[in-house]
Amino acid sequence: MIEMAPSPSSTSYPEKCCFRTSLDRNATFCDECGAPLMRCMATDECGGLLDDSGRCPVCVAPGMSLNAGSASSIRVGGTLALPLIVSNASPVGRPLFIDEIWIRGDHSELKKIDLPFQRLMSGSTGEVGLRTGVLDTEGLHRFDIIAVVATRYLWREERYAFTTSIAIPVAPEGPSEIVQNYNIQADAIGAGMTIYNPTRIQQEREAGIATHAEPIQLTLRRADTLERRLGHRGYKGSYAVRRSTCLVWQGFDKGQAPLDGPIRTVSGVLSLGRASNAPEGGLNDVRLVISQDGKIDEAASVHISRRHFQLFIQNDRFKLRVESQNGIRINEKAHKRGVVLTLNDGDVIHPLVRTQDAVSVAVRFEIQHDEVDRIVLTRRVGISGSLS
Ligand SMILES: [Zn+2]
Ligand SMILES: [Zn+2]
Repeated sequence: MIEMAPSPSSTSYPEKCCFRTSLDRNATFCDECGAPLMRCMATDECGGLLDDSGRCPVCVAPGMSLNAGSASSIRVGGTLALPLIVSNASPVGRPLFIDEIWIRGDHSELKKIDLPFQRLMSGSTGEVGLRTGVLDTEGLHRFDIIAVVATRYLWREERYAFTTSIAIPVAPEGPSEIVQNYNIQADAIGAGMTIYNPTRIQQEREAGIATHAEPIQLTLRRADTLERRLGHRGYKGSYAVRRSTCLVWQGFDKGQAPLDGPIRTVSGVLSLGRASNAPEGGLNDVRLVISQDGKIDEAASVHISRRHFQLFIQNDRFKLRVESQNGIRINEKAHKRGVVLTLNDGDVIHPLVRTQDAVSVAVRFEIQHDEVDRIVLTRRVGISGSLS
């Protein structure tokens, strides 16, 4: 009865060699295939690498199935309860947060479902009661289920949308001995679609065939277009910043900024501030001071915190977290410590709220089609007495 589409072909990254290489915590590139190692933000707990789509399959492993138990026949004019079971198959004990579940019938709008739970511990399941609207015509009815799930680590969170489709055959109105058999290949109606035929489950049960005692597994697919359209990932309706996006450092004095390229730290976060930077065993990845040609204006730079802010990529957006007690200014707006905000093309970061021209970092996106290819970060230093 159930036709399953073949699972989508496995992604090309990461390869086995990348996992081997990533066991060395200091490795930033795979020394076998040369790919940069994109570690999951929770790598300390999961050891995972992000796949091509920016997901850690160790942390984000949702499953969906339909409980066959309550299925009965469905006829024109009726509605059907869909006892949906959501599961968290993370093998390393990472909780999964089910933020939203939506259902869409044949030609209807997306409808949001009230969820009785949000946090799913690994290995556990939660049941969600979905109901179709009135099934008013005979034949196959298609339903799409969309789940928005999140993984969290410290103050970070990544959200993803997954979708699955169910086709439900609806029998003609009134009593009928002839029960239709829909032996349609899933491919004929769309990849990843599961045919859910309650009439047949009922028949087989009555005949003593115990084929459907177990829940029916649904095929989940990433819904990346939807993620962007609904505002869960990327810049709404336009482009995305990937973990592989190249950062380009301009206007920094020698040794203050890392080499151009994707963020390479194990945590995926870059720290910027007055304290010395990582190559010297310091607190930061980027040293942010008021300097020119290597000459530091110590008196002016003292107002920059030892760790002033952090940069990272989350949900396909370029993010900044304020670390300084004194806050930070982005364009004209001041932000307090602990605030996490999204940086946009053309933004200017002013680390010093009061003397905002003393030092600034301009953010410029170089966009190719719907992806940000490079982010150019340009430090500008204002004219100050001791430097001129
Ligand atoms: Zn590799
Ligand atoms: Zn992970």
